[in-house]
Amino acid sequence: AAGAEPAYLAGLNPAQREAVEALDGPVLVLAGAGTGKTRVLTTRLAHLLVTRRAGPWNILTVTFTNKAAREMRERVEALVGVPTEGWWMGTFHALAARILRRHAELVGLKPSFTILDTDDQIRLLKQLMEAENIDSKKWPARVLLSAIERWKDKALTPDRLKREDAGDMAGGRLIDLYRQYQDRLLSLNACDFGDLLLHNIALFQKHNDVLREYQDRFRYILVDEYQDTNVAQYLWLRLLAQAHRNICCVGDDDQSVYSWRGAEVANILRFDQDFTEARVIRLEQNYRSTAHILAAAHGIIANNQGRLGKQLWTEVDGGEKVRVRGLWDAEEEARWVGDEIEALQRKGLSLGQMAVLVRAGFQTREFEERFITLGLPYRVIGGPRFYERQEIRDALAYLRIVAQPDDDLAFERIINVPKRGIGDATLRQLYVAARTLGVSLAEATWRLTETDELRGKVRSTLRALMEDIARWRGQIDRTPHTDLAQSILDESGYTRMWQQDKSPEAPGRLENLKELINAMGEFENLTGFLEHVALVMDNAEASGVEQVSLMTLHGAKGLEFDVVFLPGWEEGLFPSQRTLDENGIAGLEEERRLAYVGITRGRIRVHVSHAANRRIHGSWATSLPSRFVDELPAEHVEVENAPGIGGAGFGAGGFGSGGFGSGGFGGAAAGGGWSGFGDRFNRMGRQAAQAPARGRVIEGTAYQVSPRSRPDRPFNPGSRVFHQKFGYGTVVAVENDKLEIKFDATGVKKVMDSFVVPAEQ
Ligand code: ATP
Ligand code: MG
Repeated sequence: AAGAEPAYLAGLNPAQREAVEALDGPVLVLAGAGTGKTRVLTTRLAHLLVTRRAGPWNILTVTFTNKAAREMRERVEALVGVPTEGWWMGTFHALAARILRRHAELVGLKPSFTILDTDDQIRLLKQLMEAENIDSKKWPARVLLSAIERWKDKALTPDRLKREDAGDMAGGRLIDLYRQYQDRLLSLNACDFGDLLLHNIALFQKHNDVLREYQDRFRYILVDEYQDTNVAQYLWLRLLAQAHRNICCVGDDDQSVYSWRGAEVANILRFDQDFTEARVIRLEQNYRSTAHILAAAHGIIANNQGRLGKQLWTEVDGGEKVRVRGLWDAEEEARWVGDEIEALQRKGLSLGQMAVLVRAGFQTREFEERFITLGLPYRVIGGPRFYERQEIRDALAYLRIVAQPDDDLAFERIINVPKRGIGDATLRQLYVAARTLGVSLAEATWRLTETDELRGKVRSTLRALMEDIARWRGQIDRTPHTDLAQSILDESGYTRMWQQDKSPEAPGRLENLKELINAMGEFENLTGFLEHVALVMDNAEASGVEQVSLMTLHGAKGLEFDVVFLPGWEEGLFPSQRTLDENGIAGLEEERRLAYVGITRGRIRVHVSHAANRRIHGSWATSLPSRFVDELPAEHVEVENAPGIGGAGFGAGGFGSGGFGSGGFGGAAAGGGWSGFGDRFNRMGRQAAQAPARGRVIEGTAYQVSPRSRPDRPFNPGSRVFHQKFGYGTVVAVENDKLEIKFDATGVKKVMDSFVVPAEQ
């Protein structure tokens, strides 16, 4: 069917077309944002199928995220009109796992192998460290694990490492530990994420026939977001592509933002060396954004050294300039974004075409709360909603158990977080006690710690925890609730747990915890805040309706929206101070690439904003606009610092001027804002109603136990009794619901009367 040109080709520009039609041999498409790289890949796939060069099973398509894979499937289905189920299209990990399942035995696994999550990995490593007497205080398991993972990113198996590579990590024994860790994984029939690729590589290297099979199968390989591949991924691709060499990679060095996960832009250069005959195609026309948006993005990225360099142009005429707005604080920023979104919606723009892109995960909180207030459907892409994040749920559980003694779920969540050596057996024992006594888990725990029913170490640990909780509870009315929350997180060891955690996610979790405290500052007291949270959590994610997208800049790579909001462009936040501290100039350049990614997500309109004040730990700090704001070329920017927006009474002149003391604003206004929801707080009521009736009050610095009579259990000094654990004994003394018993086998112990039955005569 030569002659008539297929429609999907007609729409391409000459360079794109070249990239689509160059089916034989290696092709590298290096091009800026929005130039149609992803479109080239999908069209190329369609072209392979339509020209019958290959069947779907002959094409391996690699995307960066699962979301990108889904979008790619949709695009391809639209082009070729058939479902893509079962096609080899997905992330490196998903594809490698699929291959590994088929040949697991060849690398010493069974096809049913499990893929460990981070918690399991840590647990395993800790076991090995204990056996090796490696001090986990000095060398937290998470630190060691991330070192191992970085090695895996580089395809460095233990045998390829030299002693000095480990430095003094784990007292110089990290390589050995790494080897043991791998052995242990095999014996557990498990592997971690990094292993998926490494096992594939080992499989291909050791079993030429298997490699051959896949080389024959995947006659065409397509790779999106190539700039963010790591060495292991590169080696995997190279093995598969070696025979037929039909590999097409598309990428943009200016959008490389995952160096912290081992991505190496150098892979672009390696490609040139390994595939010397590669055709390098540059795309220069941007189809996504208006001229102003493009020029603004370019103005920023031009400040980076060491770029491969490229010029972009667009036919989309000037359009609107990038809007830059300074606001009073984060709350006002969120209010303004919400209003703007509603205004755009009234103009007929779909919510699905609007996105708020933040630098750090904690920043979604302020927007989520605003959107909920406005009833704007939203979704957080790439992670859970703020109040559903693990560390936030943990912290809330601490607050709840302090505020609401009978909250069993909260207590259960924190009893062993951070790790306190409370095992399942103890937990079971506590449950039994709670049920037997008809009291809450916390109270049962309290009472058991007054007896000898718990092992010594467990008993003293739990006793300390219960005393802490009682002490915190005693402070509720005396200490500002934000300070109290901070003390709870610090004194419980929870903050420390994440400080010692060296995984890439840990700093973000600590930021989320700080943001939680900030959020509390907007409420008058702990109860008000917890009610608010219950309300927010009740707001289930809408489905089937258009939603505003909220996500990090990292998560936005490859996506596009009509309108993009880029809030929080402030020094320290963006560029992130942590990145600057840790990686200096290289870090700054990576931040700048993120700014470039952010701006180039917008099609029609881009809003950049910065707040003059941020609440940090309940007090206020002044912040300066990001240097990236200054780097935006003036001629493509419209500064719209309208005085008095929202924050009546605060003149525009206030921006940038000295800090504003603590207190003052916050509490009152926010408290009022939520009161409209009135009755919906009954969620809390429900909880209270479900709580077991209790005959004792818990307040002040200790659980005050009121005496009560137990006519059904007439134990008196001298009674012979039987106790499940300690056996037979004689009651020595009676004190409320506790008995002191001289056990025949173990001597005098204090126990709960509920666990004792009269000995049968
Ligand atoms: P990024 O670097 O952000 O991943 P990209 O280079 O992958 O961008 P695409 O997402 O493929 O760019 O394309 C950007 C937008 O331009 C898409 O909406 C795409 O459909 C459109 N586009 C690409 N090429 C053309 C073309 N030749 N004609 C019309 N629209 C095009
Ligand atoms: Mg793309």
